[in-house]
Amino acid sequence: MHAADWPFLDAMWRWSAFAGDAALAQGAGREAIARLREARLARLLDWTGRHSAFYRERWGRHGGHERHLAALPAVRKAELMARFDDWVTDPAVTRAGVEAFVADASRVGRPYLGRYAVFSSSGTTGVPGLLVHDADALAVYDALGATRLGALAPAWNWRLPLSGMRFALVAATGGHFAGVAEWERLRALNPWFHANARVFPVGLPLTELCARLEDFRPTVVASYATVLRALAGEKEAGRLALAPQALWYGGEWLAPGARRHVERAFGCRVAGDYGASEFLNIACECGHGALHLNDDWVILEPVDERGRAVPPDEPSCTVLLTHLANRVQPLVRYELGDSVTLASRPCPCGSPFPVIRVDGRRDELLRVRGAGGREATILPMALTTAIEEATGEHRFQVVQAGSGELRARVEPEAHGRGAGARVKAALVAFLASQGLAGVRVRVEAGPVRANPASGKFRQVWREAPGGA
Ligand SMILES: [Zn+2]
Repeated sequence: MHAADWPFLDAMWRWSAFAGDAALAQGAGREAIARLREARLARLLDWTGRHSAFYRERWGRHGGHERHLAALPAVRKAELMARFDDWVTDPAVTRAGVEAFVADASRVGRPYLGRYAVFSSSGTTGVPGLLVHDADALAVYDALGATRLGALAPAWNWRLPLSGMRFALVAATGGHFAGVAEWERLRALNPWFHANARVFPVGLPLTELCARLEDFRPTVVASYATVLRALAGEKEAGRLALAPQALWYGGEWLAPGARRHVERAFGCRVAGDYGASEFLNIACECGHGALHLNDDWVILEPVDERGRAVPPDEPSCTVLLTHLANRVQPLVRYELGDSVTLASRPCPCGSPFPVIRVDGRRDELLRVRGAGGREATILPMALTTAIEEATGEHRFQVVQAGSGELRARVEPEAHGRGAGARVKAALVAFLASQGLAGVRVRVEAGPVRANPASGKFRQVWREAPGGA
């Protein structure tokens, strides 16, 4: 398709170098990994201090040669976005240029300036972000995905042209979102993957999504945890004949009970990774179902509400991320927002990478009843994407207040600008597209509330019984 857009040989060379490195680190033990991490951190801080005007200013007196990560200030997405052109280290990359690039949905998965991947994120902190990734960062994600997805490695190795393998991704489409953009990038780089992988919009009504998946008959289905739960419900009810060899989740949290439910319904393994638009695979799940932090390439610091380090086995308020691979848009002590618990005990799998638990995004499936008693399952990711794409608003929450009633809360300032009416229209249109006419929709002005534990706000939840 547009393979020529990406520097193919360069990507393959970097990938093989980083995959070899990732496999070696896995076998080298904790001390060797710590040495790798420290060397990479020193190079990152040196680079960032020299090339990013934003960090140079923020670091001030810490800007000398003796930089210690814990002494540097934490940074937030909103301030980085406000100073975008000073944040990036390649003067050719500008906020105006990136915004023009992502405004064109036909460019999803294609390179910006011939060499960078761009992901736009609405972000669970309610501030839209534009994340630019360079060739090294992309090669690291590919290498980690290929070498550290223990439970899924055989099914997931998309580089091997295994006959009969077909990959389905159910994700938010219509924008440069990380999931679909990364998938399209891999399709552009690999003709075999291009022919055997397909993206399905999460916004489809569930019955139509099931029908389209059955037509494609994927051997691996990748999606958000809530989508896998909804598909498991359809499978159990006998409305879905799909028989994949493996399921993959990312983005949202998959609770242990929900995992057992999905695995029982499909009779196959569920595995996943924990990632964000800022770093695609921060931690990879092993065969024991534990998430192992890839701390040779990313540093996570769990902190409390005052930014102090949280000891192992205690859930953090938020987490600071330092990205050791990406140079074009450095992330040093970047507040990611998720609550992360670092486990003190090693995993029985023997991996040298530490185990983390993530209590981040926990949106809920909604079961909504429309006119004539027709019921349908609503996927939170589909609902929020539909509203964000139609209105450009990100600071809103949707609450199911009864089986046939949804209430949307929009921040007073945005509400006054007419956002309330636009959110209502988008919500009604989305429900109609799901075959749910006649659902009561109320929009009110009010502050969106963050989850006190994670600092993120849950965008979708239900108040009354009657949900899925
Ligand atoms: Zn493990």
